[in-house]
Amino acid sequence: MQYERMSEWKVHDKRVLDAVARVPRHFFVDTPDVFEAYEDRPLPIGHGQTISQPYIVALMTELLAVEPHHRVLEIGTGSGFQAAVLAQLAGEVISVEIIEALAKRARERLAAQGCQNVEVHHGDGYKGYPPKAPYDRIIVTASCPDGVPEPLEEQLKPSGRLVLPTGATSEDQQLVAVIKDMDGKLQREAVLPVRFVPLTRRLR
Ligand code: SAH
Repeated sequence: MQYERMSEWKVHDKRVLDAVARVPRHFFVDTPDVFEAYEDRPLPIGHGQTISQPYIVALMTELLAVEPHHRVLEIGTGSGFQAAVLAQLAGEVISVEIIEALAKRARERLAAQGCQNVEVHHGDGYKGYPPKAPYDRIIVTASCPDGVPEPLEEQLKPSGRLVLPTGATSEDQQLVAVIKDMDGKLQREAVLPVRFVPLTRRLR
């Protein structure tokens, strides 16, 4: 599907654009208006959470530079849309969601879309997902007030990449791309101001 203003997106990787276009976003949101799902803006998905703007999904996916053999960890499954995009580019996607009802619904939706290489777990993604660590790539889709959570840093492979929004208030958030060098040191680069729901620590 073609998104509103997609030709203006500053995303150049054709594999990423194709993956985003192939996932039917209307299937992952509750809007009765199918066309609303293809507007370039976030939408509510219940429980006070939102599915990200499609442009931001595409941009974060491009920054992640996923390769077909990669194991990717996503924190904040939400609707499952970002996970469905990643599933087309990666070998395996592990996604963690703190709200059980959202995890369950995303699992059902991803299965219905035939995404067999995605696992959704209910839990606090601040802790990552140790049973499948380390990861080639990590993406966080809720804002981390104190920067990269330490468990995620530990679960990222050397020369791995991590993309996340950081910032304490919704007015002061940055999308940050992080590369772990071969010595295990993190190199950060601020990409652009964004607005995400905050990472919470309370299981629901
Ligand atoms: N990637 C999602 C958008 C997610 S919105 C999509 O494609 O639809 C952010 C999500 O992060 C919400 O569903 C929220 O419940 C979840 N979240 C917040 N804190 C979390 C935590 N500590 N661990 C896992 N998920 C968390």
